Amino acid sequence: MSGKGGVGKSMTSAMLAVAMRRLGYKAGILDADITGPSIPRLFGVKGPATGDGESINPIASRTGIEIMSINLLLDDPEAPVVWRGPVIAGAVKQFWQEVVWDVDFLFVDMPPGTGDVPLTVFQTLPVDGIIIVSSPQELVGMIVGKAVQMAKMMNVPILGLVENMSYAVCPDCGKHINVFGDSHVDEIAGKYQLPVLAKMPIDPELSKEADAGMIEMYAGDFLNGAADAVAKLIK
Ligand code: ADP
Repeated sequence: MSGKGGVGKSMTSAMLAVAMRRLGYKAGILDADITGPSIPRLFGVKGPATGDGESINPIASRTGIEIMSINLLLDDPEAPVVWRGPVIAGAVKQFWQEVVWDVDFLFVDMPPGTGDVPLTVFQTLPVDGIIIVSSPQELVGMIVGKAVQMAKMMNVPILGLVENMSYAVCPDCGKHINVFGDSHVDEIAGKYQLPVLAKMPIDPELSKEADAGMIEMYAGDFLNGAADAVAKLIK
C-alpha cells in the first residue's frame, strides 16, 4: 500500500516478487491497481490471458512470476478503464477467485490510498500482511498512521515499511544524495514499532530496465533482505 501514486509501489511489488523468485520461492503479483495497471509493463508481459469461462490462467514472466492484471484481459491495453467502484472491486475479486494461482507468495499491488479496492482486498483475500511503501518526500507519519488504523480495523498485520527513492548515489564519488530531503521513516517506524524492511535508492538503471520490461534483469538486490524477512514472518 502507499499513500499516493508515483512513490514506487508497483516497482516495490515487482521487485519483491523478483526477490522471492531469487530466493527460490514461487511468486505472483495480483495487480489490483485496475485504473493504473503497471505490472505487465515492468515485466514485458502481454495478454490475452486464457481461460475456460470459469477460470483464468495468469501469465508467467520470463522467470516464472505469475501475473494477473486488467491489462492482460483488455483487447486494447491503452483503453482507459472507466468503471464505477463496484465493478472495479468485482474485477479484483475475480483476480483472486477465478485466477488459477500456483504460488508460495502472492503480492497484491494496490491502488494508492485506503479506498474501495483495499477494502475489497482485505475482505476477500486471506491477506497475511501489509507492506507500506513511501518516499522521503511524503508526510509518511500520516500515511503510516492511516494504514495502521485500517490494518487494525481489518485485522491484518503490517509487516513493515519500504522507503523508495531514499537517496541517489553520485556516479563519480559514490556519495549518497538525499534528493527529496532527509528521511523520517526510521522515526515513524520507531513510533509504530514497525520494521523498515528496505531503503531503495533512485537508480537510473532500475527505471531503464523497468521501461524496457526487463525488471527481472535488474542486478540490484535492495529488496532481497525484505523478501527474506517477509518469508520468515509469514511462513
Ligand atoms: P506507483 O506504483 O507508486 O504509482 P511506480 O512504481 O509506477 O509508482 O513508480 C513511478 C515511476 O518511478 C515509474 O516510472 C518507475 O519506473 C519509477 N521508479 C520507481 N522507483 C524507482 C527507483 N527506485 N529508481 C528509479 N526509478 C524509479
